[in-house]
Amino acid sequence: MRITGQTRLAGVTGDPVAHSLSPLMMSHWIAASGLDAAYLPFPVAPTDFSDFVRGLAKSPSVSGLNVTLPHKEAALALADKATPAALAIGAANLLTFRGGEIHADNTDADGFLAALEPAEPDYGNAIALVLGAGGAARALVHALLTSGCATILLSNRTRSRADAIADEIAPEAEIIDWQDRDEALARADLVVNATSLGLKGGSELELDWSAARKGAIAFDSVYVPLRTGFLRGAEEAGLQAIDGLDMLIGQARPSFAAFFGCDAPHDPPVRPVLLDALGGRS
Ligand code: NAP
Repeated sequence: MRITGQTRLAGVTGDPVAHSLSPLMMSHWIAASGLDAAYLPFPVAPTDFSDFVRGLAKSPSVSGLNVTLPHKEAALALADKATPAALAIGAANLLTFRGGEIHADNTDADGFLAALEPAEPDYGNAIALVLGAGGAARALVHALLTSGCATILLSNRTRSRADAIADEIAPEAEIIDWQDRDEALARADLVVNATSLGLKGGSELELDWSAARKGAIAFDSVYVPLRTGFLRGAEEAGLQAIDGLDMLIGQARPSFAAFFGCDAPHDPPVRPVLLDALGGRS
């Protein structure tokens, strides 16, 4: 990588940020595009977040930042402008710096829809079951709403968090008690794990796949490990299983375009690069 006086800069900030695949992904696309640009990781504590972002936003060399945990809500709060997606989700994963203003967006919903695209979901006739009610679930529910999903079933261990999503962004969603999730699974054309269950070193999401619809789509937002118990169960029951890595790639593409003014190239593909990096973590 060659840094010049004109190099465009962007990065990702979180606490911690060392695990982030974004620098690898963005650097791959920068090299493939031949851009004079660099993308760097910035570990920043919550107490320093606002000063850090506001300071960086003052430099014309810096296009913006991706934001990961635990700063996503704070990123939305400090922005001068926010997209409808960021406002609906209540968090931002993308800040762009434009003429002294900080603009917030959330591209997780785009990433989810991009990951599902090859399975060609018929959203207009689909019953979707979303398991979880944290930040990821909120983004996925927003994505389903913007895609015209016919019916959204929402189930979370802590029911009040699912109720809050329904109240705030999805009043027509049907809330399912956590202990009744298997009955809802039997109705679903699309089932989504938006909990953190299945993450490496943690517990798996327990589901009775025997009643699930064959040919339905099962999507797991978890990507470490890539093959979770959720995806194995879905596949064995005859569902189409989609892992969380394509959502990660799909949420990064709009960020790349916002930072560097061109689309992230599809060739050479970035997924093998990330799989290689994940090899040591799965
Ligand atoms: P979060 O806000 O902390 O929410 C965690 C969710 O998991 C909550 O619904 C929580 O339920 C549920 N949960 C945790 N432990 C549980 C247990 N033992 N039993 C039942 N439910 C449990 O996290 P998040 O930001 O939404 O992230 C969720 C997952 O999505 C993470 O694995 C994250 O890595 C992944 N993600 C992936 C992408 C991607 O690009 N692929 C993007 C964003 C997030 P309660 O409300 O009851 O605690």
